[in-house]
Amino acid sequence: MVKCPYCGYEGQFKVHKKWRFRFYDVERLECPKCGGVFNHYYGVSPGGKRSEYVIRVKPRVASAGHK
Ligand SMILES: [Zn+2]
Repeated sequence: MVKCPYCGYEGQFKVHKKWRFRFYDVERLECPKCGGVFNHYYGVSPGGKRSEYVIRVKPRVASAGHK
């Protein structure tokens, strides 16, 4: 199950696009709850290890956030 890295939402995400990266299947997903966008990587390495992770792409900017 994919989990939103921004707000922790689990469930159906909006899929922007899908592609292959080496042995990974990658999906760019948008959280319907917080609007955050992230890449979901899922695949089996050449060593046979299953691997799944997410990378944050573009968090929705909250009202007061600045750097
Ligand atoms: Zn979210």
